[in-house]
Amino acid sequence: MQELAGKNALVTGGSRGIGAAIVRALSEKGANVAITYERSGDSAQKLVRSIEENGRKAVAIQADSADPDAIRRSVEEAVRALGGLDILVNNAAIARYNTIADFNVEDFDALFAVNVRGPVLASKAAIPHLKEGGRVITIGSAGADRSVGEGSTVYYMTKAALQAFNRGLARELGPRDITVNLVQPGSTNTDANPETSEFADFQRSLIPLGRFGQPEDVAAAVAFLATPAARQINGTILTVDGGALA
Ligand code: NDP
Repeated sequence: MQELAGKNALVTGGSRGIGAAIVRALSEKGANVAITYERSGDSAQKLVRSIEENGRKAVAIQADSADPDAIRRSVEEAVRALGGLDILVNNAAIARYNTIADFNVEDFDALFAVNVRGPVLASKAAIPHLKEGGRVITIGSAGADRSVGEGSTVYYMTKAALQAFNRGLARELGPRDITVNLVQPGSTNTDANPETSEFADFQRSLIPLGRFGQPEDVAAAVAFLATPAARQINGTILTVDGGALA
């Protein structure tokens, strides 16, 4: 069903993994899509071409989510290329792992710059463009609710910060009939967390369904939240983790 026909979406970090699956899911529902990427220009351009072949507008924008100016420019460029903005998906994130005992300041700052400041600044730049019925959907992590594995503490802290961001922004934009929600993936098969890695069996052992999620599983939740059917869902967290938090 083309529930998002005529809607314009921006997905940060849309070149690979969960972000790319979100781009495909939104465009399959009829949306035009702008994506940002940092390094994967080839896969970003390939994704854009496949969306254009299906008759939607699409554009790939190189923008480092650690760079405030690049974020602002990418939102303006998306608005120009698509002709407006209805849906922002804050997906881009990095992971760096270490114990608190060994964590260095550079990694701490990089994590918070991309994973927390990035979504805040992208949302700030998008807010003037969003209209009634608009959507801000941010990708957190089930790790914000349950710490698993040594070395993930600071990464999970960034995702926990997004929970408070999500609640606050939902209150801020609700009066304009714009919904704001957080989708928290659990273990999901991407370059960042392959289902074949040496850590995969441990993760599977924590999941009642006994399998990793696929990027499309997270994308389905995001695409639903973007549709008009989800208009009353606001300020909430939708965890897509096969029951690992249950
Ligand atoms: P990947 O590492 O596979 O992909 C990350 C994407 O984000 C790429 O498109 C990458 O672009 C982009 N990106 C990374 N850094 C930047 C940056 N500085 N500026 C702009 N774009 C950037 O990650 P996943 O697909 O696995 O993760 C997607 C989201 O899901 C993230 O928010 C992650 O925290 C979350 N998540 C993932 C889980 C998992 O098990 N996979 C579990 C819980 C949460 P490029 O290729 O150009 O660098």
